[in-house]
Amino acid sequence: MATHKTRMLIIGSGPAGLSAAIYGARAGMEPIVVQGLQPGGQLTITTDVENYPGFRDVIQGPWLMQEMQAQAEHVGTRMMWDTITEIDIQGGSPFTAKGDSGDEYVGDVLVIATGAQAKWLGVEGEQEWSGKGVSACATCDGFFYRGKKVVVIGGGNTAVEEALYLTNHSDDVTLIHRRDELRSEKILQERLFKNPKISTLWNKTVERFEGDPAKGLTHLVLKDTVTGEESTFETEGAFVAIGHAPATELFKGKLPMDDSGYLLVEPGTPKTAVPGVFACGDVMDHTYRQAVTAAGTGCMAALDAERFLATLDFAKEAAE
Ligand code: FAD
Ligand code: NAP
Repeated sequence: MATHKTRMLIIGSGPAGLSAAIYGARAGMEPIVVQGLQPGGQLTITTDVENYPGFRDVIQGPWLMQEMQAQAEHVGTRMMWDTITEIDIQGGSPFTAKGDSGDEYVGDVLVIATGAQAKWLGVEGEQEWSGKGVSACATCDGFFYRGKKVVVIGGGNTAVEEALYLTNHSDDVTLIHRRDELRSEKILQERLFKNPKISTLWNKTVERFEGDPAKGLTHLVLKDTVTGEESTFETEGAFVAIGHAPATELFKGKLPMDDSGYLLVEPGTPKTAVPGVFACGDVMDHTYRQAVTAAGTGCMAALDAERFLATLDFAKEAAE
């Protein structure tokens, strides 16, 4: 078992964690990034990325994350193949975390960038056609379905917002929900029902996603939740919008969270309730959840971390 000490300990290697690392390394904080089970984060499971600034042509998610990591390492970040399983936050700075490997990580500041994962239906064909017709992010992938017939699955705010967003690209959007009423806010429902490009299909669950290797997704097999009857529904794009799960299990009882488990921060900042602990990216943001916003808040976390350390150093020097 080894102990790795750093000024700046970052948990998570998606756009938030790596952006924090780039800024942190350039500020001399010699960051350590513990990568977790998904090195590079969510963008490593997608293909085309067309909305990350700086690239005129479509780029690939895994490539973008490799470049971000290379940039972080180039300026002095240490990347660790490990997953944090235990963390001590209550004692204040320095913060100690234990990895799955048995190694220990000690950071004067802690940056939490553990992200959030889209929930999937877990039915046949969903992963097979993921990126080839099945997506969990309309803002990310909607553009690829312009002019096509698409569906959104879910009945919450996310599903309704995704359906409304998709009307920017498609004139034929169907919202499929397992009940006959939505749980989303009334104002969003009003917008949805008023939109002539959106139809609704009630009391239906998706049994399977089916497609053609040459074309991608072609249709869904649905089951009526009232009659049990099966039917097929032709579509080229299916957006699963049944919620996201922030990766915050580690921090339960240690940091304040909202009802959905997202870390709470001081509005407009990445500061958590514990001085020296910063949260950035999807783990603290259930609204925007984009690579560019994650990178932006990662940068903010590093800048605030630097200020926190300067204050800490000043207080130590004054006490000596
Ligand atoms: P994540 O990318 O989720 O990274 C979280 C990191 O934390 C991972 O490295 C993980 O291994 C690590 N981690 C978690 N728990 C632990 C632990 N206990 N110990 C150590 N490490 C841990 N956004 C766009 O802007 N454009 C797009 O085109 C786009 N397409 C997308 C396509 C798909 C299929 C998906 C799922 C998302 C897409 N997004 C897109 C959204 C974007 O990927 C996210 O907003 C972004 O990745 C969030 O970055 P993050 O750094 O906050 O977290
Ligand atoms: P959510 O509110 O939990 O809604 C999830 C939806 O998916 C529900 O309609 C649920 O159906 C359905 N669902 C769940 N599992 C399913 C399954 N296995 N098969 C079929 N359908 C399934 O999630 P969300 O919409 O992502 O919202 C999460 C939180 O973020 C909420 O608090 C929301 O208000 C907030 N949010 C806010 C905004 C905004 O303010 N603009 C935007 C997005 C999200 P049932 O209804 O039958 O349970």
